[in-house]
Amino acid sequence: MKFRDGGRAIVCSRGGRRWPKCSVRGCSLPGRYQCDFLVVDGETCDRYLCWTHRVRQRNPGVDYCPEHDREAHESFHQQLRAALE
Ligand SMILES: [Zn+2]
Ligand SMILES: [Zn+2]
Repeated sequence: MKFRDGGRAIVCSRGGRRWPKCSVRGCSLPGRYQCDFLVVDGETCDRYLCWTHRVRQRNPGVDYCPEHDREAHESFHQQLRAALE
């Protein structure tokens, strides 16, 4: 697990460390993880995800949101199909 110190996390001086809520609709768990899916060059999705909604990738420390995990699978299969044709 890695922490970003890009200053995006909401800092609350009272009550110690606070995490933004998980970005998945209807989920109110703290979003301690962020989606690492590359949306544009050098820019990652950065959606906040709780430990139940983060989707761990093969590379250690890399998590995707459920949407991007699906997208990554689909593009992987597309590449596979293209390679086999
Ligand atoms: Zn969640
Ligand atoms: Zn994402």
